[in-house]
Amino acid sequence: MKRVRRGVRRRFLNWTRAARELDRESYGRLVDYHIHTKLCGHAFGEPEDYVREAIAKGLPEIGFSDHVPLPGIRDPYLSMAPGDLPRYVELVRDVQADVEEMEIRLGIEMDYLPGQMDESWKLVEPYEFDYIYGSVHYIDGWGFGDSRRLSSYVGRDPDATYARYFELFCEAAREGGFDIMAHPDLVKKHGITTNLPLDELYAEAASALAEADVVVEINTSGLRKTALDVYPTLPFLRACVERGVPVTLGSDAHRPEQVGMDFDLALRLLTRAGVSELATFNGRKRTMRSIGA
Ligand code: ZN
Ligand code: FE
Ligand code: FE
Ligand code: ZN
Repeated sequence: MKRVRRGVRRRFLNWTRAARELDRESYGRLVDYHIHTKLCGHAFGEPEDYVREAIAKGLPEIGFSDHVPLPGIRDPYLSMAPGDLPRYVELVRDVQADVEEMEIRLGIEMDYLPGQMDESWKLVEPYEFDYIYGSVHYIDGWGFGDSRRLSSYVGRDPDATYARYFELFCEAAREGGFDIMAHPDLVKKHGITTNLPLDELYAEAASALAEADVVVEINTSGLRKTALDVYPTLPFLRACVERGVPVTLGSDAHRPEQVGMDFDLALRLLTRAGVSELATFNGRKRTMRSIGA
């Protein structure tokens, strides 16, 4: 996408956001499984604020999924401190106990870092999570998603970046032990594109998900980034659906008002890909919820 077109699309998305917002009945058929808390250091607001927003919009089920502390990296902007994990679980348990209007799940988002997974699994093991998201935010030590360091893109070959990203994604899907793979084409977040045959990359990724029986997430946060698109893009989602990969939905809210944001576009994507149910989790057991489409 050229820079001018991007500018137009960004303004269009921002201007129309309020007018596009789904009605309560439509929200009532959806879930938002990807919600952060201020514990991660780059999100804002208390869990209650996110829950209030979800209730106002009419979502019947949400889940928190803050970042697992990164093994070996202590950056207060990237994830909670290892000692904060009990506090995170307690915060979510508290809102679960207080709120009757909706189902609130306890999830978590874990980075896929080859060779370092034992530490992450050991951290989460004492708790009964409803689901565990797997994310590829790092390519061989490079935090390509980190918005503070866009200069790190200089001198990198976008094709090589795409190829390695998808390799890691497939590995994470197959061997990560995750319930859901988050934002599946996150590599486009900051606007890089590739000349590689994307259809092949999507097919491989979708096959990996299908073989490992891992759910794919539709994540609307890409609309708030330079990518200006939902993760995954429609052809990628179609490749997943063709192979029977179940789908779930998340906003990746890092602010309360972002709960359920742009779900009109997510719903349109679901419809166009022929998805009629969303995967939900309880104690890491999957149940499909009809979206009544
Ligand atoms: Zn985050
Ligand atoms: Fe993420
Ligand atoms: Fe996230
Ligand atoms: Zn995320």
